[in-house]
This record gives sequence, structure tokens and C-alpha cells, in this order.
Amino acid sequence: MNDENLEEAHITITSKVDIPATYCPKCDSLLPEGSGEIKCLICAAKVNVKLPSLEHDWKNERVACPGCGKVLIAGIGKRPCKLKCSSCEQKFTLAKKIMKSEISCPKCERKLRIKRSPGEKLLKCPACESEIKIKC
Ligand SMILES: [Zn+2]
Ligand SMILES: [Zn+2]
Ligand SMILES: [Zn+2]
Repeated sequence: MNDENLEEAHITITSKVDIPATYCPKCDSLLPEGSGEIKCLICAAKVNVKLPSLEHDWKNERVACPGCGKVLIAGIGKRPCKLKCSSCEQKFTLAKKIMKSEISCPKCERKLRIKRSPGEKLLKCPACESEIKIKC
């Protein structure tokens, strides 16, 4: 047995920093997450997205080491990123937070929480089984 196998074991922690939603200035659709040049999935416009506060929050995010519980400061302004604990050397990945959108079914008005993602999708309401078309 060697230690390398242990190090490869994948531990992923989810970041707690909210990712702000950005919208296309042309068609008002939700844009894919991230900053820089983002392409709108609906109208193909290229939008230059700047999220300096998100980067700042990501850099300063505090996470508890999954190995020893020590609180670390991420120090990296992107997600996912790989971190290593300075006291127990545990390596882990810090993944971006999965943002949810709340919608309500147009038929039965039941509130549904779905993963926030750009583009149109078809969803089946778990309560009334009607199909809902979503454009976030
Ligand atoms: Zn667009
Ligand atoms: Zn640790
Ligand atoms: Zn419904």
C-alpha cells in the first residue's frame, strides 16, 4: 500500500458562496455561470461578464478541512479549485455552489426548486404531472 492511493481519494466540498445570476442584455435569458466572455445559449450573443465580488468572495471563503476540521481560507478566485490543508495535508476539491431557482407550476401552483441553468427545459410537475416549460 502506498500513500499515493490515499491522496487520490476524491473529497469534494461544495462552496457556500452564492453565484449571482447574470442575464443576457439582448434577450434577457439567464447566462451560463462564470465570468469573462460568456455566450448566451438562447441568442448566441457574446457577453462580457465581470464578477469581481464573486472572485473576491471565493478567494476569501473559509472552509473546514475535511480531514482535521481546521478552518482554511480558500485563497483561489475560481471554482472548482483544489486545496490542500496546511496542517494535515489533506487534499480536496472545492466545488461551486449549485444554485437553485424557485418556480411555481402554472397548473397547480406548487412551488418547485430546480437547478438554475440557462436554456429552455421541459419539466414534469411531481404533483399534477403536467409538463412545464421553463426558461430561467
Ligand atoms: Zn441572449
Ligand atoms: Zn486538515
Ligand atoms: Zn403542477
